[in-house]
Amino acid sequence: MNEINLSLSQAHDLAVRVLIHNGCNSENATSVADTMIAAERDICHSHGLFRLPGYVASLRSGKVNGNAKPRLERLAPSVLRVDGDNGYAPLALKTARDPLAQCATENGIAAMSLINIHHFSALWVEIESLTEKGLCAMAFTAYTPSVAPAGGTKPFYGTNPMAFGWPRANQPPMVFDQATATQARGEVMIAARDGHTLPPGVGIDARGNPTNDPQDVLDGCLLPFGGYKGASIALMIELLVGPLIGERCSFEAEAADNHDGGPPRGGEVLIAIDPRRFGNTEDPYAHAERLFTALLEMDGTRLPGDRRTRNREKTATEGIAIPQSLHDRIQSFL
Ligand code: NDP
Repeated sequence: MNEINLSLSQAHDLAVRVLIHNGCNSENATSVADTMIAAERDICHSHGLFRLPGYVASLRSGKVNGNAKPRLERLAPSVLRVDGDNGYAPLALKTARDPLAQCATENGIAAMSLINIHHFSALWVEIESLTEKGLCAMAFTAYTPSVAPAGGTKPFYGTNPMAFGWPRANQPPMVFDQATATQARGEVMIAARDGHTLPPGVGIDARGNPTNDPQDVLDGCLLPFGGYKGASIALMIELLVGPLIGERCSFEAEAADNHDGGPPRGGEVLIAIDPRRFGNTEDPYAHAERLFTALLEMDGTRLPGDRRTRNREKTATEGIAIPQSLHDRIQSFL
């Protein structure tokens, strides 16, 4: 595969130019580009520039408001809400970050719902914005049906990711961020594009038969990780980001979507916790370090998030590589 090399700032400039040219104002374009290029920086290609054609499609179809002005309100002493004004999630999340952190510090715990947003990115970005303030954080969002429920053979749940982060002094936080499907759908799309096969157990074809062909899985559906246990977590996420906050579940998002290839409208829930307010009489951060040290003494282990943060050193000096075909497609949007 032919690839093209870009520095992180070249990739960011390109994404901003394309988004502005296709209908975003500067503030929205910059927020989306920040998130997309953070994914490229950490070598998470499925949520990097690979997503730009979907963003453009949703601007061109008029589904998403590229000039969104998110609005913040307080629903209860430690429950906040941001209405994303039918825009992309990153600017709504930027609006949410500081008020949520302050509310968690004041109350020990705080939750934020985001409604009327279009989420097309990885969740660790929002988690890190809270762990860097010394908070422990969780995030949940849904998508459109692509995962079979336990016992079923048709798409019903979104790939419904959840992420959790714990802050660490003078080093990157521990963050896990995972789809409740065996893999993020973007990873399957990239495997189909690049002609790779999938590991066993990722998904089933349209007839419900196991397959390792990514296109057959895209035409059929993914499976939840861990069988019925992963399916229950996917169900929990549907409830948190749908009925709890008055936004769309995955099946409702699909019914309302125009299928332009961009992200559907949906919601997200963030929970921030101040570890200093939960009664540990010793330093909770030092206590956590003992846990991490004990864990890492075992051969073969690592902390979730380490792969990504190690990649930062590489991309800061070497930049990123994207397929020439993707670069050509992005250029055609200008
Ligand atoms: P992966 O299965 O690649 O990784 C899941 C998590 O497990 C990561 O935090 C990863 O850390 C960690 N991990 C992997 N291997 C190990 C190991 N050996 N030891 C310890 N930890 C490990 O991710 P998914 O395919 O499930 O999801 C990819 C992304 O897709 C996520 O960022 C998710 O937010 C996003 N997504 C977004 C959706 C949306 O609608 N917006 C929908 C679905 C997914 P590390 O990164 O360091 O490898």
